[in-house]
Amino acid sequence: MGTGIPVLTSGDGGRRPATPGGTHGPAVQTLPTGDVFTALNTSLRGLTSAEVAARRNRFGPNELPPAGRTGLWRDLAGQFTDLFAVVLLVASAITFLAYSLQDPHEAGTLQLAVAILGVVVLNAAIGFAQEYSAERTAQSLQAMVPHTCRVLRDGERQELPARDLVPGDVVVLEAGDAVSADCRLTEAHEVSVNNAALTGESDAVGRTGEPVAAGPVLQARNCVFMGTDVVAGSGKAVVFATGAATEFGRIFRLAAAAPRQKTPLQRQVALMARRVAGTALAIGAALFAVRLPTGQPFVETFVFALGVMVALVPEGLPATLSVSLAIGVRRMARRHALVKQLLAVEALGSTTVVCTDKTGTLTRAEMTVVQVWAGGVSHAVSGVGYAPVGEVADPGPGRELLHAAGLCCNARLVPPPGGTSRAVRPREIDAGGRLQSDREGWRVLGDTTEGALLVAAAKAGLDLAAEEAAAPRVAEYPFDSARKLMSTVHKTSDGYSAYVKGAPQELLARCTTIDWRGERQPLTDELRAAVTTANDKLASQGLRVLAAASRPLADSRAVRDEVESGLTFLGLAGMLDPPRPEVSDAVDACRRAGIRIVMVTGDHPLTAEAVARRVGIVRQPAPVVLTGTRLDTLDDDDLDALLAASGELLLCRVSPEHKMRVVTTLQRSGEVVAVTGDGANDAPALKHADIGVAMGASGTDVAREAAVMVLLDDSFASIAVAVRLGRSVYQNIRRFLVYVFSSNIGELVPIVAATFAGFPLVPITAVQILAIDLGSDVLPALALGAEPPEPDVMDRPPRSRRERLFSTAVMRRILFLGGIQALGVTAVFFWHIHASGIPYSDFTEDDPVYREAITMVQAGIVLSQFFNALAVRTDRQSVFRIGLLSNPWLIAAGCFGITLMAAISYLPPLQALFNTAPLDAADWAVLAGFGALLLSAEETRKWWLRRRRPTSAKGEGG
Ligand code: ATP
Repeated sequence: MGTGIPVLTSGDGGRRPATPGGTHGPAVQTLPTGDVFTALNTSLRGLTSAEVAARRNRFGPNELPPAGRTGLWRDLAGQFTDLFAVVLLVASAITFLAYSLQDPHEAGTLQLAVAILGVVVLNAAIGFAQEYSAERTAQSLQAMVPHTCRVLRDGERQELPARDLVPGDVVVLEAGDAVSADCRLTEAHEVSVNNAALTGESDAVGRTGEPVAAGPVLQARNCVFMGTDVVAGSGKAVVFATGAATEFGRIFRLAAAAPRQKTPLQRQVALMARRVAGTALAIGAALFAVRLPTGQPFVETFVFALGVMVALVPEGLPATLSVSLAIGVRRMARRHALVKQLLAVEALGSTTVVCTDKTGTLTRAEMTVVQVWAGGVSHAVSGVGYAPVGEVADPGPGRELLHAAGLCCNARLVPPPGGTSRAVRPREIDAGGRLQSDREGWRVLGDTTEGALLVAAAKAGLDLAAEEAAAPRVAEYPFDSARKLMSTVHKTSDGYSAYVKGAPQELLARCTTIDWRGERQPLTDELRAAVTTANDKLASQGLRVLAAASRPLADSRAVRDEVESGLTFLGLAGMLDPPRPEVSDAVDACRRAGIRIVMVTGDHPLTAEAVARRVGIVRQPAPVVLTGTRLDTLDDDDLDALLAASGELLLCRVSPEHKMRVVTTLQRSGEVVAVTGDGANDAPALKHADIGVAMGASGTDVAREAAVMVLLDDSFASIAVAVRLGRSVYQNIRRFLVYVFSSNIGELVPIVAATFAGFPLVPITAVQILAIDLGSDVLPALALGAEPPEPDVMDRPPRSRRERLFSTAVMRRILFLGGIQALGVTAVFFWHIHASGIPYSDFTEDDPVYREAITMVQAGIVLSQFFNALAVRTDRQSVFRIGLLSNPWLIAAGCFGITLMAAISYLPPLQALFNTAPLDAADWAVLAGFGALLLSAEETRKWWLRRRRPTSAKGEGG
């Protein structure tokens, strides 16, 4: 096979080659199936490894060109256009203007103008670095869920990264797959795709494997395209274009086209910032108006008012907020919960209901058939896991069942590397257990339920590969979770046979006869009851039960309804799927956190209840079990009432549509709903939920795209961890808001007090305030944003969705802590001024007493902020209980701030810049004592809170 891919076009009028470098020829969609392989120089068995290597060289990886760097410049420019930056830029410009108007020019004014400009640049740099790193994090998180596809190469089915696809590859498509390249279908079983990414049309459209007339390739019903999704069915297709040569590649616009959405939290903070800026402006104007009539020079008064305004703007806040959210996202990723949108971080904290799947999320999804029931008799199956090591106690009666179920599977058993692909019989394991290693490392490619059936068939001595060769599959009706069945049609030596497997009740309803004790008998009511009893018995042990049936067919063209009716019931296979060990604790944690867990499963009610009991979701003797059929009979009000009333609730035998209905009903009654999903048709519920959670390991691409959070390990426990971290992120944001705003009060009050006391100068200058807001305050605020969750964070009820970030409790705490600070530094300032005995009007900026006094104020705020940071670490617990020094980052950040303050006080160049003076040990001692007082006051408040309300309540504290 050469690397040349001869004569193909996509046939979209312009005779664009369908493959890069291809020459012109007939449109790919017009070719009969056999010719597609010839034209793309490939075969039914797929490409050979050598051919793949050659084509990879020629066509490159199946990737779209990386986004350009224009986004970076735009991001950088954006930093200067945000509200804070604009306010500060205007302030700086006015200060420069004031300086130029001054006669003589005052160095202080120039310093202030430069300092404010410096602040804008510094802030922009921090913000930009943050956004850049957040982007990088998002990219690396995305890489954690690799986009894979299934292909046939060298006749073997393989799973590989989508970027490795080359033209000519034969891909295997199933419902839920994202299409990774432009392909021509050669086999299609009820395939429908969603082309929304390309055409904007979100309705699913049917696809065929047959040739169609020439025309625009996008409209060809036998082609599927990169960027679109398979929403139903299964099939095979040959890749004809990859990477930039695909239709998606052609219309691919840079991701920059989609503006980054702000989360409600970011919007709340932005709104608050706007309000603060407005307030700052008003206070600045008011002070200007009060001071001017007292005979102060115009320009100085103006600069003073400007300084106050700058002081009130929390400059470091936006950067701190994004850092804090980013830390939350990274922490969650480390705990296997990948958050795709920041929105989820905060929504997680207020989650009130989790609707969870069973298989894979609560259980391990490692299925092992442990019992088969056929002809009225049960037989145990030995062995665990996917190694075909074990035996069916009496394989005879169960053989027909496992034969039918095994042939009606798309999954494949993969032996361990270097292992054998044939079944290993127990007797082949020698006493030394040398083959034992084959037990480990067996994998299932595809659905694990099917994997378990394949293993059981092998244990019964069936060679399915030989059976399939003798009776090749000619048609398939893929599994879908609404029908709960799958069927295949096979050509046998004496005609055709249909094999159907699926949920027992659904299958039983389509059977008319049964294999009973070696004979085919009419399925009487009595025998139906026997099947149901056997099914219930297996299900109540927590086993997942599948049934299989078969029927002969006259020809291969039978429609689905014909294939799936008049069947002969062959028996049941009961599979064990052990609960995940970590789930019980997580369920417990959610219970304590006031989060309701609703199990939503397609499985049998008895299986569901048994599993729910095992993991602790159900504890009452009689939980409410609602089946899909019952759900259909309820109107919205009934459902509302039922969901509101019942505590422990299991939704069984439900389809994705039911799931969607339950999610919307819960939301209508004010719940914040997280819902898990893995299948393609779970996408609507995932999108609609407040937090759609998809499975990273076993879920479909479609579900992962629809979700805002992906669980890398599929485990329910990761949801509980994410909720805990989500709650703590929100708490931490409140903490640093309290921290940052209380220091603002400490900065503002002495200025206002001095104005009203008629003191001609400011107790703290704008440059000093900037040094606090952007020097000593920023790192502790960041460290607070990284504070680990409080131990009792999951012992509180979920935060109300209506609760504002700046709740009354938060405001009260800001006023309490800020008030103490303000009182302290104002007292220190005036005590210092009065102690000198100099009249107010004689003070000048160069006066050593004044310089000392303003240094005391600045140092007073810095020191009390250190204690403040320690105090806000807990909401109601004593900080001494979590360990005063248990956040080393915070201690380091606080020490940095104090060192910076000491440098401002002692180093001559900084003294000149800040107009400060050296403090002596006694000064520091007084200020530290005052800081300790603040901590004690806050501890007393918390003690009082604990005494008043022994258990924590909603929205408390900061
Ligand atoms: P959960 O993940 O909550 O356990 P589920 O996997 O049981 O949900 P579905 O995947 O919709 O939900 O399966 C519903 C029922 O369909 C299963 O209980 C089983 O009886 C049957 N079933 C599952 N997989 C297959 C399959 N591959 N072929 C045929 N029938 C299947």
